[in-house]
Parts: sequence; structure tokens; C-alpha cells
Amino acid sequence: MSSTQENIEQAIQRATRPTPQGPSTRAVHAGVERRKAYSALNTPIVQSATFTFKDTADLCDFMDAKLYGGHTDREEYGRYGNPSVWAVEERLAALDGAEDAALYSSGMGAVTSLLLTVLKAGQHIVMTDDCYRRTRQFCRVFLAKFDIETSVVPMGDYEAMEAAIIPERTRFIISETPTNPYLRVADLQKIVDIAKRHRVLTLIDSTFASPINLRPYEWGIDFVLHSATKYLGGHNDVLAGVICGEAGRIKALKDSRGMLGGVVDPQAAFLIERGIKTLGIRVQQQNATALKVARFLESHPKIDRVYYPGLPSHPDHEIAVRQMSGFGGVVSFEVAGDLQTTSEFIDRCRIPYIAPSLGGVESLIEQPALVSFYELSTAERMAVGIRDNLVRFAVGIEDADDIIRDLDSALAGIPDRKLEREWEHRFRD
Ligand SMILES: *Cc1c(COP(=O)(O)O)cnc(C)c1O
Repeated sequence: MSSTQENIEQAIQRATRPTPQGPSTRAVHAGVERRKAYSALNTPIVQSATFTFKDTADLCDFMDAKLYGGHTDREEYGRYGNPSVWAVEERLAALDGAEDAALYSSGMGAVTSLLLTVLKAGQHIVMTDDCYRRTRQFCRVFLAKFDIETSVVPMGDYEAMEAAIIPERTRFIISETPTNPYLRVADLQKIVDIAKRHRVLTLIDSTFASPINLRPYEWGIDFVLHSATKYLGGHNDVLAGVICGEAGRIKALKDSRGMLGGVVDPQAAFLIERGIKTLGIRVQQQNATALKVARFLESHPKIDRVYYPGLPSHPDHEIAVRQMSGFGGVVSFEVAGDLQTTSEFIDRCRIPYIAPSLGGVESLIEQPALVSFYELSTAERMAVGIRDNLVRFAVGIEDADDIIRDLDSALAGIPDRKLEREWEHRFRD
């Protein structure tokens, strides 16, 4: 074929390119075509720390291409890139509707590398208060060492968010949606409007939503973070993190990753790619089960309060309906009782494992007072907004009826506080 003919064919192909596929199709197919090797269906695990050159001319061609922007489809050393990692990055970018993605060894590796890459001494961050605890710690304590200050504003207060911006100094607005543990939903349109007015960058930690339920990049958010350890991996067997965004910015992140070193191992990349293939059906089932669980708990007399954005009782229900296509697999609730009663309820559950994390196929349950806030007293926990009777339930892919039966029988086994109150009342008279 002559090159003109080729150009025409390419132009036709571009013009007739199908409209973007749905998320489940992208989860299975996006990004792999270029990586096929040995006619294998799956992306090979290229378990190699370094990559070889045929001869010196081959090496020089590569160096020229790298330095002067020519075409290269290979790597030189594992810290700078790996074909098993590229495959996952392409798929994640496609899933989030972004141009490119950078994969890291953990969610924290991703967020810390991003902030260290973009921020300079003297700059300032505005962050919402319900953010992941370690991210908040990194900003408030670690970045403070480099003269980078962080202002924390209440989630849902967009006037406070805008007022916290310091002209010339604020570089980033950081938020999360839905949040942990109260599943607050950030209004992305409002955040993007504020950021545009003040020319600051935006980062959304979208781990709890997954790209199936929400794609913040499509709302105009600059950087989207996922702890791939959760829904993307989906099997509680691998740690990884990803930042999605515009191609030039992600290239800068990949460059800094070669220096900061938070690279993901090819074996881990394979596990993420394998996990992502079933992301669509897993998340849809988790959405459906979590909604059933939330409704069941809300109607149960031994439950004080349920936090789930899919319930009309949730403060951000209206935003969630407008912005998300599902409400996620995490339900938080308060048991009618104290720290001990709540622990007793958890210990009576037979299906969920007691463990931190979420988004995997196994249901997990935890009492935040005893996991993230163990060292605090009840009063101190109240001050940071964590009640002793709070439970976070991350549904897996077990049958919803089994999960609900399990919660029901665990609740049947704990004292009925309403009955106790009635008795106290009678005996007092
Ligand atoms: C787990 C989690 C992180 C951290 O991710 P790792 O993969 O554990 O480093 C960040 N943000 C949220 C919302 C998380 O749930």
C-alpha cells in the first residue's frame, strides 16, 4: 500500500471510530491490542528488571528517540517502565475516560508522588476534612516540613473551600468521593468551578466509587486517584495505586516516578489487569447488595443510623444521584449500643472478615473506633466525629440474602437497648 493510500485508510478509520464503549467492555479490552505477544490472549508478565540492546547502534537509536521525542516502543530499565505495567495504565486511563495513567506500588505511593512532583515550597493546599487519614497526615505533617501548608475545610462547605484559597499560593484542591467512613459525596461541578475561578489544580481520590460508578476526569477534575488495592484489584491480593489525567501531566509523573521509585512490580500489574476484567460485574453486584443491606439496616430497630449515599436519608443523596451511576459497596452504620455491644455484634457476624480495606470479593467489617482510632478515648473520638458504635461494612460479592441473614442473626444476638431502657424506666419508678 502506498503511503497516501495508508493515510486515507487511517483517516477513514478515525472518522468511523465507534463511540466510546461502555465501562465493562473497556475493563475487558481497553489498551491491550498493541501489547499482544506470542498470540497470547493475555498480556505477558514481563518479569525483567532490565532490557537489552542488540548493539550500540540500537542503544543510540533508543537514546535519540527518548531525548529528542522520536518513536520508541521499548524500555531500558524496570524503574522507567515495563510492558506489563503499560498495559494496565492504558486500560485504567480508558476506564476513567482520561488520556493516560501512571501506576504505582500503592495508593499512598501514587498520591505522595503526585504531590511531591507538582508542589513547591511556599505553596498551599486546600483539603476537605473527610479525606483518607494517611493522605491528610502526609499533607499536614510531612509536606509541612517543606514549607507547604494545608488548610482543611468541612466536606460539603464550598464557601469555606473558596474562602480558604490563598491567591498566588494555593496550588491544589484535594477531595475524596465518596469519603470514608461517612460516604460523603463531593459536588465535582462546584469544585471544578472554584478551581477554574482561582486557577488551581484539583485532585479527587475516587477509590470508593471506582470508574464504574464515577469518572471525575469527565467532570473536569485534573487528577484522579485510585487505590487499586480496593475495587480495581478486587481480590484483596495485591497493593497498587494509580493517577489518571492529561497526557503531558502523566508523562511528568512517570518521569518523577523513575526518580522517586514507587514503581509497581510486573507481577502485581498482572494481578491488577486480571482483576479489572471483572470490575464491571463485581461493582454492579456490590452496588446492588450494599443498597439492599443499607435499606435492611435502616429499618432495623437495633440500628441507630445508616450512612449510605443511595439512601434518601443521606445528606448528599441528591448529589450522588446526579453524579454517580451506582453508590458503591461500603455501608457505614451505628449500632444501638456502646463500644462493647458493637464489638459483640461484629464478633457474631459469620460472613465478613474483620479487616481493614474494601472493594474485594470478600465482605469485610470493621469498627473504626478500634481500627483507625484505637489510641483515642471515647471523648477524643467524638471530637473527631467517630462514635464508638460506628461500623464500616464493605460488601463483597457473596449473595445479598446470605449477607442480610448474617447481619440479622448477629443483631438478634446483642442486647436490645430499647428494651433495656424500658426496664430501667420501670424499675426506677
Ligand atoms: C486504601 C486507600 C488509600 C491508600 O491506598 P493503598 O493502596 O493502601 O496505599 C487511599 N485512599 C483511599 C480512599 C483508600 O481507601
